[in-house]
Amino acid sequence: MPCLPCGWRRQCPDTAEVRACGGLASSKGNGLFATRSLVEDELLFEEDPVCGMAMLMFDDAASGRFCQHCLVLLREDSETVSCLQECGASYCSHACRDAAKWAYHDVLCPVANPRWGEYVERARECGNEYYVLAARALASLRNCTPADDGEMWTRTPWFGYAAPPWWQTMKRPIYDTDDESDGDSASQPQDLDSEDNASLDRFFQSAVRTQTSEMAEELAAILANSDSVWSSLLAGPQASEALGRLMGLVRVNSMAIQSQTGGDSGDDVELAKGMAIYPVTSAMNHDAESNCYVASNPSEPQRCYVRTRRAVAAGEELCIDYLSGAPYSDEQRCDILQHQYGIPST
Ligand SMILES: [Zn+2]
Ligand SMILES: [Zn+2]
Repeated sequence: MPCLPCGWRRQCPDTAEVRACGGLASSKGNGLFATRSLVEDELLFEEDPVCGMAMLMFDDAASGRFCQHCLVLLREDSETVSCLQECGASYCSHACRDAAKWAYHDVLCPVANPRWGEYVERARECGNEYYVLAARALASLRNCTPADDGEMWTRTPWFGYAAPPWWQTMKRPIYDTDDESDGDSASQPQDLDSEDNASLDRFFQSAVRTQTSEMAEELAAILANSDSVWSSLLAGPQASEALGRLMGLVRVNSMAIQSQTGGDSGDDVELAKGMAIYPVTSAMNHDAESNCYVASNPSEPQRCYVRTRRAVAAGEELCIDYLSGAPYSDEQRCDILQHQYGIPST
Protein backbone atom coordinates (compact mmCIF):
# COMPACT_ATOMS: atom_id res chain seq x y z
CA MET A 1 0.00 0.00 0.00
CA PRO A 2 1.27 3.44 -0.87
CA CYS A 3 0.96 5.27 2.41
CA LEU A 4 0.93 3.36 5.61
CA PRO A 5 -0.53 3.60 8.17
CA CYS A 6 -3.01 5.96 6.58
CA GLY A 7 -0.21 8.41 5.98
CA TRP A 8 -1.05 10.68 8.90
CA ARG A 9 1.71 9.40 11.14
CA ARG A 10 4.60 11.81 11.38
CA GLN A 11 7.75 9.99 10.40
CA CYS A 12 10.48 12.54 10.88
CA PRO A 13 13.88 12.60 9.21
CA ASP A 14 16.78 11.99 11.61
CA THR A 15 17.55 15.71 11.59
CA ALA A 16 14.30 16.77 13.27
CA GLU A 17 11.56 15.75 15.68
CA VAL A 18 8.00 16.86 16.40
CA ARG A 19 7.38 17.71 20.05
CA ALA A 20 5.40 20.09 22.21
CA CYS A 21 6.69 23.66 22.38
CA GLY A 22 7.66 24.36 25.95
CA GLY A 23 7.62 27.37 28.26
CA LEU A 24 6.14 30.60 26.97
CA ALA A 25 5.60 29.03 23.56
CA SER A 26 3.43 26.19 24.90
CA SER A 27 0.28 27.80 23.49
CA LYS A 28 1.66 27.02 20.03
CA GLY A 29 1.13 23.29 20.62
CA ASN A 30 3.56 21.09 18.70
CA GLY A 31 6.49 22.24 16.65
CA LEU A 32 9.38 20.74 14.70
CA PHE A 33 12.82 20.90 16.33
CA ALA A 34 16.34 20.28 15.02
CA THR A 35 17.96 17.21 16.58
CA ARG A 36 21.44 18.29 15.46
CA SER A 37 23.03 21.45 14.14
CA LEU A 38 22.28 22.23 10.51
CA VAL A 39 24.10 24.23 7.90
CA GLU A 40 22.69 26.92 5.63
CA ASP A 41 20.62 25.67 2.69
CA GLU A 42 20.54 22.08 3.92
CA LEU A 43 17.76 19.86 2.59
CA LEU A 44 16.07 18.63 5.77
CA PHE A 45 13.55 16.35 4.12
CA GLU A 46 11.14 16.02 1.24
CA GLU A 47 7.67 14.59 1.58
CA ASP A 48 4.41 13.85 -0.18
CA PRO A 49 0.99 14.75 1.21
CA VAL A 50 -1.02 12.47 3.45
CA CYS A 51 -2.50 9.99 0.96
CA GLY A 52 -5.46 11.61 -0.79
CA MET A 53 -5.08 14.97 0.96
CA ALA A 54 -4.07 17.11 -2.01
CA MET A 55 -6.34 18.83 -4.50
CA LEU A 56 -6.51 21.79 -6.83
CA MET A 57 -8.89 24.65 -6.14
CA PHE A 58 -12.20 24.12 -7.94
CA ASP A 59 -11.65 26.86 -10.50
CA ASP A 60 -8.06 25.92 -11.24
CA ALA A 61 -8.89 22.21 -11.57
CA ALA A 62 -11.06 23.20 -14.53
CA SER A 63 -8.13 24.89 -16.27
CA GLY A 64 -6.59 21.65 -17.54
CA ARG A 65 -6.59 17.90 -17.13
CA PHE A 66 -4.64 16.80 -14.07
CA CYS A 67 -3.87 13.51 -12.37
CA GLN A 68 -6.52 13.36 -9.65
CA HIS A 69 -3.99 12.06 -7.15
CA CYS A 70 -0.60 13.73 -7.68
CA LEU A 71 -2.07 16.74 -9.58
CA VAL A 72 0.48 16.62 -12.36
CA LEU A 73 -0.74 18.01 -15.70
CA LEU A 74 -1.83 15.24 -18.10
CA ARG A 75 -0.54 16.37 -21.47
CA GLU A 76 -2.30 15.50 -24.72
CA ASP A 77 0.28 12.91 -25.64
CA SER A 78 0.68 11.31 -22.22
CA GLU A 79 -0.87 7.95 -21.43
CA THR A 80 -3.46 8.09 -18.70
CA VAL A 81 -5.30 5.63 -16.50
CA SER A 82 -9.01 6.08 -15.78
CA CYS A 83 -11.21 5.28 -12.81
CA LEU A 84 -12.48 1.71 -13.34
CA GLN A 85 -15.98 2.84 -12.46
CA GLU A 86 -15.76 5.29 -15.35
CA CYS A 87 -16.57 8.49 -13.49
CA GLY A 88 -14.15 10.36 -15.72
CA ALA A 89 -11.37 10.75 -13.14
CA SER A 90 -7.96 10.26 -14.78
CA TYR A 91 -4.57 9.53 -13.34
CA CYS A 92 -0.98 9.66 -14.55
CA SER A 93 -0.26 6.07 -13.52
CA HIS A 94 -1.70 2.91 -12.03
CA ALA A 95 0.11 3.77 -8.81
CA CYS A 96 -1.79 7.07 -8.54
CA ARG A 97 -5.13 5.44 -9.35
CA ASP A 98 -4.53 2.72 -6.77
CA ALA A 99 -3.46 5.23 -4.14
CA ALA A 100 -6.57 7.40 -4.67
CA LYS A 101 -8.82 4.35 -4.66
CA TRP A 102 -7.27 3.06 -1.47
CA ALA A 103 -7.48 6.42 0.29
CA TYR A 104 -11.01 7.41 -0.68
CA HIS A 105 -12.05 6.98 -4.30
CA ASP A 106 -13.66 3.58 -4.16
CA VAL A 107 -16.32 5.10 -1.88
CA LEU A 108 -16.11 8.72 -3.00
CA CYS A 109 -16.62 8.09 -6.71
CA PRO A 110 -19.62 9.85 -8.26
CA VAL A 111 -20.52 6.73 -10.26
CA ALA A 112 -20.30 4.33 -7.32
CA ASN A 113 -22.07 6.86 -5.13
CA PRO A 114 -24.13 9.55 -6.92
CA ARG A 115 -24.70 11.43 -3.66
CA TRP A 116 -20.96 12.12 -3.60
CA GLY A 117 -21.31 14.01 -6.88
CA GLU A 118 -24.02 16.15 -5.27
CA TYR A 119 -21.89 16.75 -2.19
CA VAL A 120 -19.00 18.01 -4.33
CA GLU A 121 -21.42 20.24 -6.23
CA ARG A 122 -22.57 21.78 -2.93
CA ALA A 123 -18.99 22.27 -1.77
CA ARG A 124 -18.34 24.00 -5.09
CA GLU A 125 -21.38 26.25 -4.61
CA CYS A 126 -20.05 27.17 -1.16
CA GLY A 127 -16.68 27.84 -2.82
CA ASN A 128 -15.14 25.60 -0.19
CA GLU A 129 -12.59 22.90 -1.06
CA TYR A 130 -12.10 22.06 2.63
CA TYR A 131 -15.36 20.08 2.54
CA VAL A 132 -13.84 17.72 -0.03
CA LEU A 133 -10.56 17.17 1.80
CA ALA A 134 -12.38 16.64 5.10
CA ALA A 135 -14.63 14.06 3.42
CA ARG A 136 -11.62 12.22 2.00
CA ALA A 137 -10.03 12.09 5.45
CA LEU A 138 -13.21 10.59 6.91
CA ALA A 139 -13.50 8.10 4.04
CA SER A 140 -9.89 6.99 4.62
CA LEU A 141 -10.76 5.90 8.14
CA ARG A 142 -12.07 2.62 6.71
CA ASN A 143 -8.39 1.67 6.28
CA CYS A 144 -7.57 2.26 9.94
CA THR A 145 -8.15 0.41 13.14
CA PRO A 146 -9.00 2.82 15.94
CA ALA A 147 -6.58 3.07 18.85
CA ASP A 148 -7.81 1.21 21.92
CA ASP A 149 -9.59 3.74 24.07
CA GLY A 150 -10.71 7.32 24.47
CA GLU A 151 -13.40 9.26 22.70
CA MET A 152 -13.63 8.70 18.96
CA TRP A 153 -11.78 11.87 17.92
CA THR A 154 -8.69 10.94 19.99
CA ARG A 155 -8.60 7.58 18.20
CA THR A 156 -8.37 9.08 14.69
CA PRO A 157 -5.00 8.93 12.88
CA TRP A 158 -4.89 12.75 12.77
CA PHE A 159 -5.24 13.20 16.51
CA GLY A 160 -2.24 15.35 17.42
CA TYR A 161 -2.79 17.73 14.49
CA ALA A 162 -4.09 21.16 15.46
CA ALA A 163 -7.82 21.13 14.80
CA PRO A 164 -9.89 24.01 16.18
CA PRO A 165 -13.59 23.84 15.22
CA TRP A 166 -13.56 25.89 12.10
CA TRP A 167 -16.44 28.20 12.92
CA GLN A 168 -14.28 29.48 15.76
CA THR A 169 -11.44 30.41 13.43
CA MET A 170 -13.57 31.75 10.60
CA LYS A 171 -13.88 35.46 10.32
CA ARG A 172 -16.89 37.03 8.72
CA PRO A 173 -15.77 38.24 5.32
CA ILE A 174 -15.86 42.01 5.07
CA TYR A 175 -16.43 42.98 1.50
CA ASP A 176 -14.11 45.58 0.18
CA THR A 177 -16.27 48.49 -0.92
CA ASP A 178 -13.36 50.84 -0.78
CA ASP A 179 -12.77 51.31 -4.49
CA GLU A 180 -12.34 54.71 -6.05
CA SER A 181 -15.39 54.60 -8.29
CA ASP A 182 -17.85 54.74 -5.41
CA GLY A 183 -15.98 56.59 -2.73
CA ASP A 184 -19.13 57.42 -0.77
CA SER A 185 -20.44 53.90 -0.61
CA ALA A 186 -23.13 53.62 2.02
CA SER A 187 -22.28 50.62 4.15
CA GLN A 188 -18.61 50.72 5.08
CA PRO A 189 -17.88 48.19 7.82
CA GLN A 190 -16.52 50.93 10.04
CA ASP A 191 -19.93 52.64 10.00
CA LEU A 192 -21.26 49.79 12.10
CA ASP A 193 -20.87 50.05 15.84
CA SER A 194 -19.25 47.20 17.73
CA GLU A 195 -22.57 45.75 18.81
CA ASP A 196 -23.74 45.52 15.19
CA ASN A 197 -20.46 43.90 14.27
CA ALA A 198 -20.69 41.39 17.11
CA SER A 199 -24.19 40.47 16.08
CA LEU A 200 -23.16 40.04 12.43
CA ASP A 201 -20.28 37.84 13.64
CA ARG A 202 -22.68 35.68 15.62
CA PHE A 203 -24.98 35.41 12.63
CA PHE A 204 -22.06 34.43 10.39
CA GLN A 205 -20.81 31.80 12.84
CA SER A 206 -24.23 30.27 13.20
CA ALA A 207 -24.67 30.21 9.41
CA VAL A 208 -21.32 28.41 9.10
CA ARG A 209 -22.41 25.91 11.76
CA THR A 210 -25.69 25.25 10.00
CA GLN A 211 -23.98 24.69 6.68
CA THR A 212 -21.44 22.37 8.34
CA SER A 213 -24.13 20.30 9.98
CA GLU A 214 -26.03 19.93 6.70
CA MET A 215 -22.86 18.79 4.96
CA ALA A 216 -22.08 16.41 7.84
CA GLU A 217 -25.52 14.82 7.55
CA GLU A 218 -25.02 14.33 3.83
CA LEU A 219 -21.56 12.87 4.38
CA ALA A 220 -22.84 10.46 7.01
CA ALA A 221 -25.30 9.13 4.43
CA ILE A 222 -22.57 8.88 1.77
CA LEU A 223 -20.22 6.95 4.07
CA ALA A 224 -22.93 4.88 5.74
CA ASN A 225 -22.07 1.70 3.84
CA SER A 226 -18.33 2.00 3.96
CA ASP A 227 -17.55 1.11 7.54
CA SER A 228 -18.85 0.36 10.99
CA VAL A 229 -16.11 0.90 13.57
CA TRP A 230 -15.91 4.61 12.85
CA SER A 231 -19.58 5.25 12.12
CA SER A 232 -20.22 6.84 15.54
CA LEU A 233 -17.89 9.68 14.55
CA LEU A 234 -20.48 10.77 12.01
CA ALA A 235 -23.59 9.84 13.97
CA GLY A 236 -26.09 12.28 15.44
CA PRO A 237 -25.09 15.69 16.80
CA GLN A 238 -21.42 14.62 17.03
CA ALA A 239 -21.27 14.60 13.23
CA SER A 240 -21.11 18.35 12.70
CA GLU A 241 -18.54 18.64 15.51
CA ALA A 242 -16.33 16.02 13.82
CA LEU A 243 -16.66 17.60 10.38
CA GLY A 244 -16.18 21.09 11.84
CA ARG A 245 -12.97 20.08 13.59
CA LEU A 246 -11.69 18.40 10.43
CA MET A 247 -12.47 21.55 8.45
CA GLY A 248 -10.48 23.47 11.08
CA LEU A 249 -7.65 20.95 10.73
CA VAL A 250 -7.57 21.35 6.96
CA ARG A 251 -7.71 25.12 7.31
CA VAL A 252 -4.76 25.44 9.67
CA ASN A 253 -2.62 22.58 8.35
CA SER A 254 -2.89 22.84 4.58
CA MET A 255 -0.12 24.34 2.50
CA ALA A 256 -0.50 26.07 -0.85
CA ILE A 257 0.75 24.04 -3.80
CA GLN A 258 0.99 24.74 -7.52
CA SER A 259 0.80 22.66 -10.64
CA GLN A 260 2.03 23.65 -14.05
CA THR A 261 -0.83 23.99 -16.55
CA GLY A 262 0.98 25.31 -19.58
CA GLY A 263 3.99 27.15 -20.93
CA ASP A 264 7.39 25.57 -21.03
CA SER A 265 9.80 27.59 -19.01
CA GLY A 266 10.50 30.77 -17.11
CA ASP A 267 7.84 33.47 -17.27
CA ASP A 268 5.66 31.49 -19.69
CA VAL A 269 4.71 28.90 -17.12
CA GLU A 270 1.04 29.04 -16.11
CA LEU A 271 0.15 27.67 -12.72
CA ALA A 272 -2.92 26.13 -11.14
CA LYS A 273 -3.29 26.56 -7.38
CA GLY A 274 -4.16 23.90 -4.88
CA MET A 275 -3.63 22.75 -1.32
CA ALA A 276 -2.20 19.75 0.48
CA ILE A 277 -1.63 18.45 3.99
CA TYR A 278 1.87 17.19 4.77
CA PRO A 279 2.52 15.13 7.89
CA VAL A 280 5.77 16.71 9.04
CA THR A 281 5.75 20.10 7.27
CA SER A 282 2.31 20.88 8.68
CA ALA A 283 3.73 20.53 12.20
CA MET A 284 6.03 23.49 11.54
CA ASN A 285 5.06 26.77 13.16
CA HIS A 286 5.12 30.20 11.57
CA ASP A 287 7.89 32.73 12.00
CA ALA A 288 8.19 35.85 9.87
CA GLU A 289 11.99 35.53 10.28
CA SER A 290 11.89 31.80 9.62
CA ASN A 291 15.01 29.63 9.63
CA CYS A 292 13.55 27.24 7.00
CA TYR A 293 11.58 27.46 3.79
CA VAL A 294 9.51 25.15 1.66
CA ALA A 295 10.54 24.68 -1.94
CA SER A 296 8.52 22.98 -4.63
CA ASN A 297 8.52 22.30 -8.33
CA PRO A 298 5.26 22.85 -10.28
CA SER A 299 6.08 19.96 -12.61
CA GLU A 300 6.01 17.69 -9.55
CA PRO A 301 3.18 19.47 -7.73
CA GLN A 302 2.57 17.37 -4.68
CA ARG A 303 6.11 16.98 -3.34
CA CYS A 304 7.56 19.57 -0.97
CA TYR A 305 11.17 20.13 0.06
CA VAL A 306 12.05 21.72 3.37
CA ARG A 307 15.41 23.47 3.48
CA THR A 308 17.21 25.69 5.97
CA ARG A 309 17.62 29.39 5.21
CA ARG A 310 20.56 29.73 7.57
CA ALA A 311 22.63 27.66 9.99
CA VAL A 312 20.53 26.24 12.85
CA ALA A 313 21.66 25.04 16.27
CA ALA A 314 20.66 21.65 17.68
CA GLY A 315 17.42 21.98 19.66
CA GLU A 316 16.26 25.12 17.83
CA GLU A 317 12.67 25.17 16.59
CA LEU A 318 12.39 24.91 12.81
CA CYS A 319 9.87 27.40 11.42
CA ILE A 320 8.61 28.54 8.06
CA ASP A 321 6.94 31.76 6.94
CA TYR A 322 3.35 30.73 6.16
CA LEU A 323 2.89 33.70 3.86
CA SER A 324 6.26 33.64 2.18
CA GLY A 325 6.15 35.27 -1.23
CA ALA A 326 2.46 36.20 -0.91
CA PRO A 327 1.64 39.72 -2.09
CA TYR A 328 0.09 40.93 1.18
CA SER A 329 0.57 44.17 3.04
CA ASP A 330 1.77 44.00 6.67
CA GLU A 331 -1.77 44.63 7.84
CA GLN A 332 -3.22 41.86 5.67
CA ARG A 333 -0.49 39.48 6.86
CA CYS A 334 -1.39 40.11 10.51
CA ASP A 335 -5.04 39.63 9.72
CA ILE A 336 -4.55 36.31 7.89
CA LEU A 337 -2.15 34.97 10.51
CA GLN A 338 -4.52 35.88 13.30
CA HIS A 339 -7.75 34.70 11.72
CA GLN A 340 -6.63 31.69 9.74
CA TYR A 341 -3.93 30.35 12.03
CA GLY A 342 -4.78 31.91 15.40
CA ILE A 343 -1.35 33.58 15.63
CA PRO A 344 -1.59 36.80 17.67
CA SER A 345 -0.09 39.89 16.05
CA THR A 346 3.18 41.05 17.49
ZN1 LIG B 1 -0.33 10.99 -10.64
ZN1 LIG C 1 -14.49 7.16 -10.10
